[in-house]
Amino acid sequence: MKGRIHNFNAGPAVLPLPVLEEIQAELLNFKGSGMSITEVSHRSKWFDEVIQDATTRVRRLLKLDDSFRVLFLQGGASLQFCMIPMNLLPDGQSADYVNTGSWATKAIKEAGIQGKAINVVASSEDKNFSYIPKDISFSRDTAYVHITSNNTIKGTQWASFPDTGGVPLISDMSSDIMSRPFDPSLFGLIYAGAQKNLGPAGVTLVIIREDMLERVPRGLPTMLKYTTYVDHNSMFNTPPCFAVYTIQLVLKWLEETIGGLEKMEEVNREKAGLLYKAIDESGFYKGTAEKESRSMMNVTFRLPSEDLEKQFVQQAIEHGLGGLKGHRSVGGCRASIYNATSLEAVKALVDFMDEFVHENG
Ligand SMILES: *Cc1c(COP(=O)(O)O)cnc(C)c1O
Repeated sequence: MKGRIHNFNAGPAVLPLPVLEEIQAELLNFKGSGMSITEVSHRSKWFDEVIQDATTRVRRLLKLDDSFRVLFLQGGASLQFCMIPMNLLPDGQSADYVNTGSWATKAIKEAGIQGKAINVVASSEDKNFSYIPKDISFSRDTAYVHITSNNTIKGTQWASFPDTGGVPLISDMSSDIMSRPFDPSLFGLIYAGAQKNLGPAGVTLVIIREDMLERVPRGLPTMLKYTTYVDHNSMFNTPPCFAVYTIQLVLKWLEETIGGLEKMEEVNREKAGLLYKAIDESGFYKGTAEKESRSMMNVTFRLPSEDLEKQFVQQAIEHGLGGLKGHRSVGGCRASIYNATSLEAVKALVDFMDEFVHENG
């Protein structure tokens, strides 16, 4: 492959080209420091400006008020599965979880390992996680409600967030953060591994409402307490500097090139609309998620046979379209169309899909 491909990988995933170019341009000498951003001290003014700017942009893009703290952690979204109950679910109380797929299942498991009281108040497992449950009744006095806003593997997404009657909502937004605006006041905590929609792997964005911090038990190990990161501006120990820097550039691109989350959502809707239309009108491809639960980020579909799916993925690569194989746990095909996936890339995919039907349909 000589040039860059249209990259539909689920994660790590495509980054905006201008961001990669900016990284390339300043890799050897970051802002006159005479060093790469990977070589400067995390206590230097150079990195301090990076992490401050990244934080400010997160706040501005998501319209967070002063009650929220923005943190950059390590350990992936997967570490949050255990940190959330460890920090925010006091003994003697229980928490509600909605099971919408593989990642939610893992979050539930990690709470269970700790002997925490968990209620799975709704699940879409009965139909292979192809939909988002509706009309859920949450438990009384639950400590929080945990959901997965976008189900990367199953290709479903919450179109709107559930009414929890004032109970703090916690969401794993790893694969749809910054893809659309939402009302942050519903949330006690939001987390997202960066490698889908924000930047490279190695950093997790955590947004936590200050009142949640009162729940953090004293006896936890330092590195596993949210308060440690709050008290030290995410720099209790060395943060993943390069990953934070890349996030800063992605957020700058979102604000200055795209024009914010309303605009981003418009583009994302257009991209997803084109792809689902191609699937629905083909009489050949079959979407795996129920229509009203379809994800704008991960479009999952099947072909009439597994042989055709293999052939589809292989021929797509020859057309410069990569990453279309479904997750190993579910098979089929998946096009991940995150923020950085251009409309042009989606159009190229749709053209290829049409052509493939003509040849094989
Ligand atoms: C990718 C993903 C994860 C896992 O993230 P890691 O950073 O690898 O731990 C968790 N939840 C969702 C929704 C994901 O898409």
